[in-house]
This record gives sequence, structure tokens and C-alpha cells, in this order.
Amino acid sequence: RLEVKNLMRSFEGRTVVNDISFAIQPGQVTCLLGPSGCGKSTTLRMIAGVEMQDSGEIYVDGALVCDTIFRLPPERREIGLMFQDFALFPHLSVADNVAFGLTSGSKAEKRARVEELLERVDLMRFIDGYPHQLSGGEQQRVALARALAPKPKIMLMDEPFSGLDNRLRDGIRDETLNILKEQDTAVLLVTHEPEEAMRMADEIALMRDGRIVQHGAPYNVYTRPVDRAALAFFSDAN
Ligand code: ATP
Ligand code: MG
Repeated sequence: RLEVKNLMRSFEGRTVVNDISFAIQPGQVTCLLGPSGCGKSTTLRMIAGVEMQDSGEIYVDGALVCDTIFRLPPERREIGLMFQDFALFPHLSVADNVAFGLTSGSKAEKRARVEELLERVDLMRFIDGYPHQLSGGEQQRVALARALAPKPKIMLMDEPFSGLDNRLRDGIRDETLNILKEQDTAVLLVTHEPEEAMRMADEIALMRDGRIVQHGAPYNVYTRPVDRAALAFFSDAN
């Protein structure tokens, strides 16, 4: 379980994340949805620990991970990350890239896990290949497999499907969702596409100008927009 309380962040006097609070439960996908520049990635980066908040607290399973005094380094937060610009390691094979976060288990167990994931993102044929031999979309699917492999309790995903073409995207979204649900992961998924949020989310947190303006089940957020701007955001995107 991930809980965020009163997160704030300003850059050069401009408040970019303005008093954000929410919680995510295991096995649930919460979408941070909102237009470009509203502060989604900054929020995610603070939870990941690669950006420091000005104030507010972050908890994982009730334990403090970060406030303005205490700060657990990113690698000790047990939070999985899948960012759009998260490159693969060019000198490692596809298999070794996917196995990168697997710290426990025998060699055979790791190999089995790698094969399982590559099977599910339909990339088994590249298992012994190298990133430069793969297309952008294929590399992105390897990065997805790499992020899912260690079965993180919490997963932060920033536009993880944006580089995939329409035909592939639906299948990969569904498979990713299946894997995350099986692993009972608490997921925070950032997107600026209402359609993606409607498809994937258990809850939508609608963001605008650094604030969450509406938070609820997708159907409710879609059918009962909180104001004109929320209505426009959903209809413009269609
Ligand atoms: P997008 O959908 O385009 O990815 P976003 O909602 O993820 O947008 P953020 O990346 O969180 O938006 O950025 C929010 C605002 O904060 C933007 O106006 C951006 O220019 C600003 N910002 C982010 N990081 C910095 C930084 N390091 N220094 C200055 N301004 C920043
Ligand atoms: Mg962003």
C-alpha cells in the first residue's frame, strides 16, 4: 500500500505539485490523468525518490519513506519503475536486461521467470538478442518485462505504452494489467489519455495545475465531471 500526503513541489517560484494526497491498495490501478504539464511526472518522481518534495510525506505499508527530514534512497523503497525514457542496458542481452532486478533465486529460477515474461510480451524470439537489434516498441516491451520481473509491491508507470502502435498497445496493456493483478501490485499509472485511464484504472485521480480535482471510479469521473474543464478534457480527447 502506497500513501501520499500533502505533497508539494515548486520550481522557480511556480507551484507544480500543489497539495497532492492519495492512497493505492494492492491489486489496484490508480491512474493519474491530466493534461501535459499538470505535474504528473513530478509527482511520480517524488514517490520514486529521484525528485525531492518541498513538503509532504510518502508512506509504503504504513512506514515513512520520505518527508522533509527523513529520506529513504530510491533503491531502498522497493518501488518498481517503468518510465518512458528508461533505456535498456545496451551491453546486456535481452534476457540479462529482464533478469537485472532479480536479486534472489537460483539461476534456473531466474531464467524461468525471464522466459515467462518474454513469452507474455511476445518477445521470446529475442531472448538472446541485444537491445540495438530491437525496434523501439520491442525495446519498450523488454523494459516492461524488466520492470515486472521482480514482482514489486508498488509499481510506478509513466506513460509506459506511449511508444507502441495501436495494434500492439491493446494486447500489451491487457497483458501488463493481468501480470500486475496476479502479483497483487499497487499501481500508479500516469497518462494524459482518458481512454487509457478508462481502460486500465480502478480509480482515476484527475489532475489539473498541480492539484487532484476529482478522484473516483472511472465511470463516475467520466459521467459526472466535476466542472466544465473536466468535461472538456474528456471530450476533447475523443
Ligand atoms: P506531460 O504529460 O507532458 O509529461 P506532466 O504532467 O508529466 O506533463 P511534469 O513533467 O510533472 O508534467 O511537469 C510539470 C511542470 O513542472 C511543467 O511545467 C514543467 O516545465 C515543470 N518542471 C518539471 N521539472 C522541472 C525542473 N526540474 N525544473 C523546472 N521546471 C520543471
Ligand atoms: Mg510527464
